[in-house]
Amino acid sequence: MPQNITINGKTDILSLTLPQLEAELERLGEKKFRAAQIYDWLHVKKITDFSSMTNLSAQLREQLEAIFCINSLFIVKRLASSTDNTLKYLYRLYDGEHIESVLMEYEHGNTLCISTQVGCKMGCRFCASTIAGYKRDLLPSEMLLQIYEAQRDSGRKISGVVLMGIGEPLDNYDNVVRFFDIVSSQEGINMSLRHVSLSTCGIVPKIYELAKLRLGVTLSISLHSSDNASRSSIMPINDKYDIYELVSACKDYFKETGRRVSFEYAVISGVNDTYDDAQKLNKLLGGMMCHVNLIPVNKIDERDYTSSKKSTMRFKKYLTDMGMNVTVRRTLGADINAACGQLRREQEKK
Ligand code: SAH
Repeated sequence: MPQNITINGKTDILSLTLPQLEAELERLGEKKFRAAQIYDWLHVKKITDFSSMTNLSAQLREQLEAIFCINSLFIVKRLASSTDNTLKYLYRLYDGEHIESVLMEYEHGNTLCISTQVGCKMGCRFCASTIAGYKRDLLPSEMLLQIYEAQRDSGRKISGVVLMGIGEPLDNYDNVVRFFDIVSSQEGINMSLRHVSLSTCGIVPKIYELAKLRLGVTLSISLHSSDNASRSSIMPINDKYDIYELVSACKDYFKETGRRVSFEYAVISGVNDTYDDAQKLNKLLGGMMCHVNLIPVNKIDERDYTSSKKSTMRFKKYLTDMGMNVTVRRTLGADINAACGQLRREQEKK
């Protein structure tokens, strides 16, 4: 685990796990149980200043104020879909950078799609997040605050989280794992990690590392192709870890965690949607406990990739006829540019 994270010289208290906060309080000569009280103020009551922590002595509150800061996000833009209840947020971070979250309503509850980095280094050809460039990793506090702010602003209870917004979560591994610890803490919002999914373009060594932690998180792989040549042409990460290494890592993830892996496949006309592609995909994933989720590729300004409902449904039929477990992702918030990275991109252009 990394050392304490600081913002302008003060420790970012929202990025501390409970044991880390306990250690900090013991260093100040306080009893350990104070940490749980502070955790409750921060993560359950969600207060934003130390002076409101009324069950602590004035002296301790002053000490906390001197050492720690309580990070915050500011909602710059909030777009509401007129066709479904999707809400999209553009947030400003403490250093002026921008990120996005999307709140989606499903029958089983509200799920928030959060960002894990400011921008992305992965360079996937079809993705808007990478075009605006990579700036920095998000702190655990900034992942949590996307949930807290969306919940406060919308008044909706968020029951699930997907790490599928801007950024590559496994390229910010330590902070993401720390976020998992804090978000699932019983003294905090106590979210079951069974309701959390992590989506990755395929940083293979980190998939093995995550599997060993056996957290119960659902792993979602952005596969988008069924062979090395076509995958490398749209996803540069494939040159580093090829598609067979990736699938082996997924098998290991299932073996270690018992969690069925989900494969995302953006259907792109003329790139990956032929019968031959379907056959290769079936062979690649054959016999694996998994699920394929087809996404009609979202058009972005900078690229000419397109897709249609018709070709997506045709591709789905090829796969289901081969006995594969396939769904087509519902397009939520289509009228509000809800695809990854598009709002930040607009903000950067300004
Ligand atoms: N870096 C992670 C998470 C962020 S991308 C990953 O690669 O999985 C979230 C998902 O949106 C990925 O499956 C990504 O491939 C997909 N995506 C990005 N741009 C898209 C677009 N224009 N159309 C459809 N899906 C897209």
